[in-house]
Amino acid sequence: MGKIRGLIGLLLALACCMPVLSWAQSDTPLRVYRVGPADLPWQSVLAGKYRDREIPVDKQAFSPMPETSGWWRVEIRRDLDGISDPMLHLSAVSLTHSEVWLPGSPAPLRFSQLDRQGNHGFSPRLMVVALPPEMRAGDSVYWRVQTGEVSPLKLGLAAEDVLRVQDGEQIRWHSMVEGTILALVLAGFVLSLIMRETTFLILAAGIFLSLLFVLTNNGDVFHYPGLAGLDAEYPLQRIMGLAACAVMTHFAYIFLEMRRRTPRLALVQRAIIGGFLLLLIGSFLPGFRDNPLGSILGNLVIVAGTVNGILASILLIRAGQRAGKLYLLSWTPLLVFSFWRIVEISLRLPFNEFVGLVFPATYVLAGILLYLGLGERILLYKRERDANEHLARMDSLTEVYNRRALDERLRIAAVQTEKSGRSMAVLFADLDHFKRINDSHGHDVGDYVLKDVTLRIRSVLRFGDVLGRYGGEEFVIALPDCGEEQARHLAERIRERIAERPVVCAGTVIPVTVSIGISVLRDGQSDIEGALKRADQALYFCKQNGRNCVNTLPA
Ligand code: GH3
Ligand code: MG
Ligand code: MG
Repeated sequence: MGKIRGLIGLLLALACCMPVLSWAQSDTPLRVYRVGPADLPWQSVLAGKYRDREIPVDKQAFSPMPETSGWWRVEIRRDLDGISDPMLHLSAVSLTHSEVWLPGSPAPLRFSQLDRQGNHGFSPRLMVVALPPEMRAGDSVYWRVQTGEVSPLKLGLAAEDVLRVQDGEQIRWHSMVEGTILALVLAGFVLSLIMRETTFLILAAGIFLSLLFVLTNNGDVFHYPGLAGLDAEYPLQRIMGLAACAVMTHFAYIFLEMRRRTPRLALVQRAIIGGFLLLLIGSFLPGFRDNPLGSILGNLVIVAGTVNGILASILLIRAGQRAGKLYLLSWTPLLVFSFWRIVEISLRLPFNEFVGLVFPATYVLAGILLYLGLGERILLYKRERDANEHLARMDSLTEVYNRRALDERLRIAAVQTEKSGRSMAVLFADLDHFKRINDSHGHDVGDYVLKDVTLRIRSVLRFGDVLGRYGGEEFVIALPDCGEEQARHLAERIRERIAERPVVCAGTVIPVTVSIGISVLRDGQSDIEGALKRADQALYFCKQNGRNCVNTLPA
């Protein structure tokens, strides 16, 4: 527990420092100026009418002042001669629309994540503008941005081939991570089908929605026909995010067994799920959809859900439940990166690319750990159930089949005999004068004798033979694949094994004998009741003939 706490602390501390550190590293071949709001007329902006009112930005990004939407001027600070096919690129988060005016061009280039045209085949994570090679140091590109994004959009300048290599690496990484998440989703669906466990289904659905959230977040979703069209009307990113949150919160409710273990937190958790569902409905309503209140409320509910989940898992860990540990571990990386994002947003730092890359991978880790926890839990339930079933079938004193299980096993053995066309012997064994043992030595000694006798019978049997306690001191033994001769021989061995030496219980020496009646089901006969009856009759003749003997009823 101490180790985990230390690890979480270290990760959180790193999360606090890294955004600031990573920001300090960037170099600046570009200079960025905030020109003004987006509604300024383009002719005046391009004519340089607002030059004296421009605000220089000390970072290579469109930083919100207070909003990111608006007019921006990007000044190229060095000649482009040394760069082959220079490309100006903007790290474009989804739903960013923009217009770009290059020097001397009569019309702007238009970019939108919905419209994949004109992005030179780069991934949707980037908006790429090919700069004319004749551009000189001091020339400017004007950029009109429309976005709901509150964090800065990072700018960069690179040769096309360099940028393609970088973008290709990102695409490969994202495809791998997204493919792995998809594999986890499929695994969950298949497991839920095989094990008939809806909890797996809920987790798989939660991870699937999280995958859609990741895809909308990094723009990959726009590669899928149909989904891109949906985004024009609805905030797909928010819808997927809220749906994923609602399902994963419901999963936590089940996984952490909140209703049973933490009833108060369970109430809060239910309210949080309700909150997510309301916000989800709200994101389809035009009046509420574009209201910033929705996004603030959404973040509040996420924080509440996170805190509640952490509290519940800590309580579980205290109660010695592994599920709590796994849950906490699975969410820690996600928490660290979410916290990192909050620091970036509050300090108006541009999103760190490393976090952007690693963030989706945390879903993989969370998925694996949660499947692990769920698998362990289900295995435990099944083991307990098997153990209970086993107990229900066993006679508690002698630990052989009880009457009910014996009947069932005999029926199965008879069916198998019928199928195979072979014979099966049935032995009916009854201890001689057992009442006398009880009467002279007491019931406890009688019990001890029963246990000892059972062990002796068992020591003679083969694998596959069926031994059960029929009643008080009566045992039934079924011998599949066994003819009359063999059965007689085996019954004799049982009789001898019991008679050869007395049972010794707490210094008391008790001679015990047994009588055994035999019947045989020949050539695939299957009338097990009849066989039992005949074995009982054979036993009756043993008792008539002085006991401690074996007898077969003439067929
Ligand atoms: P016989 O040789 O004719 O079979 O004589 P018996 O005394 O064995 O005859 P009977 O079947 O009438 O007696 C069985 C006795 O077994 C009666 C009952 O008190 C005793 N018994 C039944 N179940 C148990 C048990 O679980 N523990 C003990 N100690 N005795 C039991
Ligand atoms: Mg009896
Ligand atoms: Mg008896």
